[in-house]
Amino acid sequence: MEVNILGTRYEVKFENELNDIRLGDCSGYCDPSIKKIVVDDFKGKNNHPLSIGDLSVLQKKILRHELIHAFLSESGLQNWSENEDFVDWIALQMPKIAEAERGVLDGIWSENQKNAKKTEPFYD
Ligand SMILES: [Zn+2]
Repeated sequence: MEVNILGTRYEVKFENELNDIRLGDCSGYCDPSIKKIVVDDFKGKNNHPLSIGDLSVLQKKILRHELIHAFLSESGLQNWSENEDFVDWIALQMPKIAEAERGVLDGIWSENQKNAKKTEPFYD
């Protein structure tokens, strides 16, 4: 499938080390030079999908991490993109940041709804 990274199309694939040698020593990668993100499907010779408690949770974490690499790279922030601690931190905190934003926006929406009712014209 494809994903839009700041206007650039990236191919996203689920592979394993049997069909992508680069997965031999990692569980995913982002290659901005060919606009490609690969996440391990854990069906290779060194892994078995059933050996992982919740494969989809792990794959989502890997995908989020690789997407952060792509966003940083497409932003021209290559040095930041190569900082694994920074990428990991953003990938780990991103859902919490989104939840905090959602909470604030829901609160604002709720307040706006209340205020809108207060200012509605009164009809008998
Ligand atoms: Zn990384």
